[in-house]
Amino acid sequence: MKKIIVLPPEISQKIAAGEVVERPVSVVKELVENSLDASANEIRVELLSGGKKMIRIQDDGLGMNREDALLSFERHSTSKISREEDLLQIRTLGFRGEALPSIGAVSRVTLKTSDGDEEKATQIEREGETVLEILDIAYPRGTSVEVKDLFFNLPARRKFLRSDQAELGMIVKYLTYVSLAYPEKRFSLIHGKREILNCPPVASLRERIFQLYGKSLLEKLMEVDYEEKEGRIQGFSSRPPSGRHDKTHQLFYVNRRPVRDKILQGALNQIYRGFLERDLFAEAFIFLSLPYSDVDVNVHPAKAEVRFSDSQYVFQLVVKSIEKAMLKERGIKEIYPVAEELKREFRIGEKAPSPAFRIPGEGKIEAQELFPLPKKEEKPSVQVLGQYLETYIVVSREDGLLVLDQHNAHERVLFEKYREIDEKKVWPQKMALIPLLFELSPSQALSLESNQTLLEEAGFRVEAMGGRSFALKEFPDIFQAEEAKNIFLFLLEEMKEEKVTDKRERLLATLACKTAIKAGEHLSREKMEYLVEELFKTANFSLCPHGRPIIVKIDRSEIEKGLKRTPNWR
Ligand code: ADP
Ligand code: MG
Repeated sequence: MKKIIVLPPEISQKIAAGEVVERPVSVVKELVENSLDASANEIRVELLSGGKKMIRIQDDGLGMNREDALLSFERHSTSKISREEDLLQIRTLGFRGEALPSIGAVSRVTLKTSDGDEEKATQIEREGETVLEILDIAYPRGTSVEVKDLFFNLPARRKFLRSDQAELGMIVKYLTYVSLAYPEKRFSLIHGKREILNCPPVASLRERIFQLYGKSLLEKLMEVDYEEKEGRIQGFSSRPPSGRHDKTHQLFYVNRRPVRDKILQGALNQIYRGFLERDLFAEAFIFLSLPYSDVDVNVHPAKAEVRFSDSQYVFQLVVKSIEKAMLKERGIKEIYPVAEELKREFRIGEKAPSPAFRIPGEGKIEAQELFPLPKKEEKPSVQVLGQYLETYIVVSREDGLLVLDQHNAHERVLFEKYREIDEKKVWPQKMALIPLLFELSPSQALSLESNQTLLEEAGFRVEAMGGRSFALKEFPDIFQAEEAKNIFLFLLEEMKEEKVTDKRERLLATLACKTAIKAGEHLSREKMEYLVEELFKTANFSLCPHGRPIIVKIDRSEIEKGLKRTPNWR
């Protein structure tokens, strides 16, 4: 071992900064929190290159006098707490006095601020740890923090930043998230010359959801409001059977602080499990209010998580609030027994039957292992016996019985077809007679921007109509108009993640899933025979494009064993 040394402040500051400032969105988050803590009514965010070149946050909050402005960059300098006991009752978003020093350590900062009392406002120019200049300026009450060249002195960090579009996407997501908690304030976001978000003050969360997501989302939500003892849950949550195919639209707030929380999320998903189709999850905006002393916000470096003194209580509170909201929706007075009544009301699709057969290789089926491909000339003597539970197709074969999931099977068949069309680049197109109008949230609009070419290649042509409105002008022939619109919106969500490695495959898989027959659909014998035949023509017929199995097999030998037949009875 080398000898131990105490790191010089230039290095230790950078290490500490790493805890707070990971990427542009962390800077935006800390600065917006400061503006909110300073009681600002208007918060304006400007960015260049996804925040990598420049982030400027301007507010009309309480501002600072010269002395405080200079102090604010010192580590652990804060106006928000002063005694140890204060940590048990934190009402502000910030409290550690770490954000400004951390941001300052890894960028070039210009702070302009005025508390409206002092004659001269203050401007401070910094570069890393060095103060370059302190100036008297004229400035209205409020604060502007401009952060340039993030990580200019930390190339290792800079290397890990993603594309402008990706960094911007995270910032849009964060601002959407936080602005939902403060509908009474104005938030705006400008990227380069483009205004991406502009939310003037509104009177309620409902209106803020409308501003950000439009009418279509609001229509799928029900209001939640439940109070018990000292806790209260408010917000909006999916009205079954509405839901979405992933959990990305589940936003939680504790005392108006945006948080990620396993307990809240777990409770939400547990209660919805009985009310939504198998692959759907609730969309939810859940605001939990608790006494400040019952929540520890000092548990996560970026304050993104909290700890509850009684998590069981919090869990129950969420469950009860959703139950109550559902009952209210259906006009049902009595609270218990909830589940049976509600399930009947919402006509829940039947549960997936528990697998009665053993799947070799624990669910991971190799096509070859299960179904050694018949040699070319040999006809696979399969015969469709019928449909089971309007969900499965039962097929007999020399060596046993096959049970096919009709949706997954059709999905695989369509996927191969679409792939063929896609390779030939001949997606049939249909002009929309009446352009199909819809509204996009800021993050959906971004997704459209980055995926437009791909979507156009697949036959979806969209035109901007100003503001958040867009029109679908052309779509693939295989869809009805309304269906095309829904699928298009779904694709936008699917392709939001920049990381998705093969977007094209994903797009085709989604199209296949959306157009395939569903579980619960009655199929004629001809249809089943056609489907089985088409399926066995595909190369990979044991897994659907999403990787779910298509077929289970009951071996003839197993049947014989179970029925105590000698194997060669015939
Ligand atoms: P914290 O928010 O944890 O107190 P920060 O480093 O973020 O720590 O900020 C330090 C102090 O600077 C804050 O406590 C506050 O007094 C002051 N400050 C920072 N930003 C603003 C702002 N936008 N308006 C007014 N005061 C601010
Ligand atoms: Mg702060």
